[in-house]
Amino acid sequence: MFFNFFIFSTVIQGFYVVTGLLFSKTGLHQDSIALLDAGNMHTALQLLIFFIVNDFVQWITHIGLHKIPVLWNFHKVHHSVKEMGFAAHLRYHWMENVLYKPLKTFAVMILFGFEPEMAFMVHFFSISIGHLNHANIKLSYGPLKYLLNNPVMHIWHHSKELPKGQTVGVNFGISLSIWDYIFKTAYIPKVNGEIELGFDKDEEFPQGFLKQNVYGFRT
Ligand SMILES: [Zn+2]
Ligand SMILES: [Zn+2]
Repeated sequence: MFFNFFIFSTVIQGFYVVTGLLFSKTGLHQDSIALLDAGNMHTALQLLIFFIVNDFVQWITHIGLHKIPVLWNFHKVHHSVKEMGFAAHLRYHWMENVLYKPLKTFAVMILFGFEPEMAFMVHFFSISIGHLNHANIKLSYGPLKYLLNNPVMHIWHHSKELPKGQTVGVNFGISLSIWDYIFKTAYIPKVNGEIELGFDKDEEFPQGFLKQNVYGFRT
């Protein structure tokens, strides 16, 4: 929490302030390249579009983190949790921020030209859903499970054993589960009892903070 949410986000925020300043010096207005006229759009609609697009882009990036071996080595930090708990949501390699951000920024620039003013509300909502997804509770929001990612669904994303014939993973959703249902990557078997978390050969994965941080750069 201290490293990812405090130190690293402060550093990356500074980086975007600097690039924003350099961008404004080019004289190119960000909203001049936007597809949508956000100025004439209701704030709630802006936020909804922002939320859906952001989530879809993250869903695609997340699949990339599993499919591409170099990226998977960074994502292993998140999958090294052996027990669910909200803090598992905060356990990830800082390179994930670097990998997720460009595609998200690109999509938002194309659509709006800039991040909607109230975007922080979407971020808070996503963080809350993310914390709940990693909570060790049997909660699936009833019929809303087809729309929202939930603890019951996300625990199978962390399962060490993958369904037969699957090598990459299942349930890649971040806040929304709908993408997994549309693209047939949803998997929620009806079983009770303990689910072993982790990944293949996770016993060889380093335990310490520093070693986990350098692992992705070395392998
Ligand atoms: Zn994952
Ligand atoms: Zn997770």
